[in-house]
Amino acid sequence: MNVITYYKSRDGEKKVPGAPHFKIKEFACHDGTDKIFIDIDHAKKLEKIRVHFKKAVHINSGYRTVSYNRKIGGASGSYHTKGRAFDIYISGVNVKTIAKYAEAIGIKGIGCYPNANFVHIDSRPSKFFYYYTNYYRSVRTFGGSPAYYPIIAKGSRGAYVKKAQNRLIKKGYKISADGIFGSSTENAVKRFQKKSEITVDGIVGKNTWKLLYK
Ligand SMILES: [Zn+2]
Repeated sequence: MNVITYYKSRDGEKKVPGAPHFKIKEFACHDGTDKIFIDIDHAKKLEKIRVHFKKAVHINSGYRTVSYNRKIGGASGSYHTKGRAFDIYISGVNVKTIAKYAEAIGIKGIGCYPNANFVHIDSRPSKFFYYYTNYYRSVRTFGGSPAYYPIIAKGSRGAYVKKAQNRLIKKGYKISADGIFGSSTENAVKRFQKKSEITVDGIVGKNTWKLLYK
């Protein structure tokens, strides 16, 4: 975190240090306030997103004054009021895809708003991921960090088995995504591990998850 104070009148046209695709004025509060806070370490992550998707990243909302934040019904103490949160969208890119990439590059605060079509990212120190549709629903992962996934093996069942099966199918293994870790899934995992030159044990742990998402 490294929050710098800028002024739209003085700095608005300048590029954000470390994030040359963005001008300082893009982070200004929508109430016309001249002063702008920007966490430039967090803006560097935004630059990464911009470079990764090779498309313009639009900032719906960056810095907010406390009064403006209150007016629009933002959470009190919102990271926006500290210059540490950005609400973004990219034309033609699904918000979940953006959230997943944000997770992969280590952003800890991520809110995905599929209906309003934007992603909130902030520079909080500990992880908080959520979806907002009509209410908040916290999630463990957007799929950007398979290291968080549980270890699964023959006999396991459920959503994570299905995830692994879908990844294997994508990689060309002819199995079905039924959420049941049986012999055919185990064989596919072993073949995948052999091909990836890692320990062939048929158990999907951290390393296998990582490679499944490569
Ligand atoms: Zn936000």
